[in-house]
Amino acid sequence: MTKENKKKRILSGMRPTGKMHLGNFVGALENWVELQNSNKYKNYHLIADYHVLTTNTDSSDILDNTLDMISDWLAVGIDPEKSPIFRQSQIKEHSELHLIFSMLITTARLERNPTLKEQLQDLKVENITYGHLGYPVLQAADILLYRGEVVPVGEDQAPHVEITREIARKFNKTYGKVFPVPKTKLTNFARLPGLDRKKMSKSVGNTILISDKKKEIEKKMMKAITDPKKIRLHDPGRPEICLVFTYHQKFNPEEEREIKKNCKSGALGCVECKKRCAAAINDFLAPFREKRNYYSKNKDEVLDIIKDGEKRAQKVALETMKRVHEVMKLG
Ligand code: ATP
Ligand code: MG
Repeated sequence: MTKENKKKRILSGMRPTGKMHLGNFVGALENWVELQNSNKYKNYHLIADYHVLTTNTDSSDILDNTLDMISDWLAVGIDPEKSPIFRQSQIKEHSELHLIFSMLITTARLERNPTLKEQLQDLKVENITYGHLGYPVLQAADILLYRGEVVPVGEDQAPHVEITREIARKFNKTYGKVFPVPKTKLTNFARLPGLDRKKMSKSVGNTILISDKKKEIEKKMMKAITDPKKIRLHDPGRPEICLVFTYHQKFNPEEEREIKKNCKSGALGCVECKKRCAAAINDFLAPFREKRNYYSKNKDEVLDIIKDGEKRAQKVALETMKRVHEVMKLG
């Protein structure tokens, strides 16, 4: 076995539904880069373009959003040489494995998925499609096609990884051992709140983007909901329930203690606190900007990176499907 083959495989992906935000970064991307650079893992990163259709059947923006999303991934440090990046729609084995897996799980189990319940509520979906209900089954195929062992994602995805584990066990028991039973890997900020306190999400519009400029960050920050009991400048605040303080904890650790103390005592007002938070986030994002700009102007290069990733991912996908067909005695 070569050194490369001994590394544990990581599989994680995202839906190309818009530009990347701070939640995507702290919940997943930052972890991907760290694991990639540790050299202990082999990362595979999926563009879940078919998954977009679960909540929006208009496919006209998918390619543009894909290029935007990958520009963000590259800007924060995903190295496509080490970590292939590829589209679900271009590797047909995702759909094939999804079909096989769809027989190994009940609809009742899928209906109990808490992430689905939250999403239906947030997006006000009344009639769910068959494909939307089956979202985690396609995700299980995405992970297991690469025999992924570690899945670094935000907290909302943990129930989906649990379903993947159940499907892997069921397949192995029914047909023969092909798949590992993967584990979720969460960060300390696995559910970053958005400016309205709900989970920061592309589709909800409560985000600060990795690509936002200083002025945009400042403007958005002023809308952030703080402690509702801190009304006047010198009222004492409760940092533990304030989302701006959560942002300070991640993006401004040097000032965290002082801000906590002065918020509690009433010495620090929300406007000043928000200005300092926006400045810290801006400094944090500054190193990514040059690369982000480069890729947003060189989209052909981004597409070439994806196509190269697809060739490499396809090889692994074919290997897995060969084993699947063997144990199932098909073909
Ligand atoms: P959408 O609204 O289209 O579902 P999203 O903003 O929820 O978009 P996803 O593409 O669903 O983003 O998620 C990509 C990755 O980022 C997943 O691993 C997810 O768990 C993680 N993630 C998304 N939002 C957050 C958040 N607020 N905090 C931490 N991690 C997050
Ligand atoms: Mg989401």
